[in-house]
Amino acid sequence: QNYCKPTGQIHDACCDYETVESVNHDLFDRLHHLVEQPYFRYHKVDLAKECPFWEEDGSCMNRACGVETTDEEHTPEAWRSYTLGKLNHTSSQTSSPAGCNEISDSDFCVLEDELDSEGVYVDLLENPERFTGYAGHSSARVWKAIYEENCFAPVPFIDPSRSTFEGGSGFAHVPTSSSSGLGGLGGGGGLGGGLAMGGWGEAEKRLMGSLAGPKDPTEEVCLEKRVFYRVISGLHASISVHICDDYLDQQTGEWAPNLDCFITRIGQHPERLENMYFTYVLLLRALARSGPQLVQTLQDTAGEQETRDRLAGLVKVANGCPSTFDEKSMFSGKEAQLLKDEFKDHFRNVSRIMDCVGCDKCRLWGKLQVTGLGTALKLLFSYDGASPLSSPLRPDLDPQAVVLSRSELVAFVNTLHRLSESLAAVDKFRMLWAKRNFRE
Ligand code: FAD
Repeated sequence: QNYCKPTGQIHDACCDYETVESVNHDLFDRLHHLVEQPYFRYHKVDLAKECPFWEEDGSCMNRACGVETTDEEHTPEAWRSYTLGKLNHTSSQTSSPAGCNEISDSDFCVLEDELDSEGVYVDLLENPERFTGYAGHSSARVWKAIYEENCFAPVPFIDPSRSTFEGGSGFAHVPTSSSSGLGGLGGGGGLGGGLAMGGWGEAEKRLMGSLAGPKDPTEEVCLEKRVFYRVISGLHASISVHICDDYLDQQTGEWAPNLDCFITRIGQHPERLENMYFTYVLLLRALARSGPQLVQTLQDTAGEQETRDRLAGLVKVANGCPSTFDEKSMFSGKEAQLLKDEFKDHFRNVSRIMDCVGCDKCRLWGKLQVTGLGTALKLLFSYDGASPLSSPLRPDLDPQAVVLSRSELVAFVNTLHRLSESLAAVDKFRMLWAKRNFRE
């Protein structure tokens, strides 16, 4: 059995595995160099926020869970002046254009304000996403809570071809308790109790059974719900790949790829691998579609010329690639707006759950990547037609235009890089697998 070589069409995307791998081959080095630029290296994050849903029993004490922070003085001066300028600029306005804790309608995440004094600067290169040893009850509880956000309104699918249902996505909206913010979790009750690891399989099936994979009998779940699940599962798979790729051998104290870890967590679950490719595809589409806006944001938030050139080069390559995802197929039916609102509510809750991760390093990357995915969703679904070139410094240009903050851009590019690296790691595991088989 070949655990690592997926082939053929990726469900819900417009491309196959081979195409995505070839695109990744073209983009990987460019992305790698881009995230080494100071602009994308330093990220401000609040790691001390309390979990809004339950009392966390304390942080992971593993050394590998620790995060090295960077004094603000070590970050490029241009941004400090930029953020100070923004402070003056926004203090005279009723609403902040970029990244405040208030949620604007276009946002799929609860964003942190870069001006927030609680946040700390982190050098992402110095704090790589890798094995930390964070596991057990705390991490299982967080994953369970995240997947529970999949529980959109429990309305049975209505197949338009077999009923009088007209058009639409097959999703009938019923407001959920989570639409009001915390209710979806607090009211659930089920999250308070522990989760026996042995029972997770059943819980997982129950929670997402109708969304799982192509062989599932209820696979006719509407596209939007499937996409939500695939993005979460794809992120989870990518995190697992990074854990296995940069794994600590506790016997020798060495960091190295762990093939068995990969086989158990990913290789034996082709649907997880597919979801990871799908998540990458969605991010790629956001990059290709919104290139000018991303470059403009970089320019308006004190991005250096070299970084701008590199980002523009990346966008150009992405634009030359075959289309990977058709965002117009989503939120286009009868219930489009209601469905989009619910999708946003659920995704915002996922971003709040990140403050419940009990390991600082995992929390850092979890928060960053959920923000990165939320930014991609915002770029794909919060405006249509031509991309408006609005910017945090010029919100007056078009009040309807989507505005990105520096944090969102940093999160988006780094998340794209995480997924790109995960795909490259699959290739590496493929070779390790072949080598092992050859020896046996
Ligand atoms: P888990 O990965 O905890 O999975 C729980 C259950 O979810 C599984 O039993 C399975 O039923 C289901 N599942 C697993 N993968 C998928 C998937 N892709 N799609 C659908 N269902 C799935 N640990 C680190 O060492 N380093 C990190 O950087 C790190 N970051 C984390 C970030 C977040 C946001 C969270 C919540 C946890 C993080 N962890 C990290 C912990 C790590 O993800 C695992 O929880 C931990 O390693 C225990 O793994 P596990 O094998 O018990 O299963």
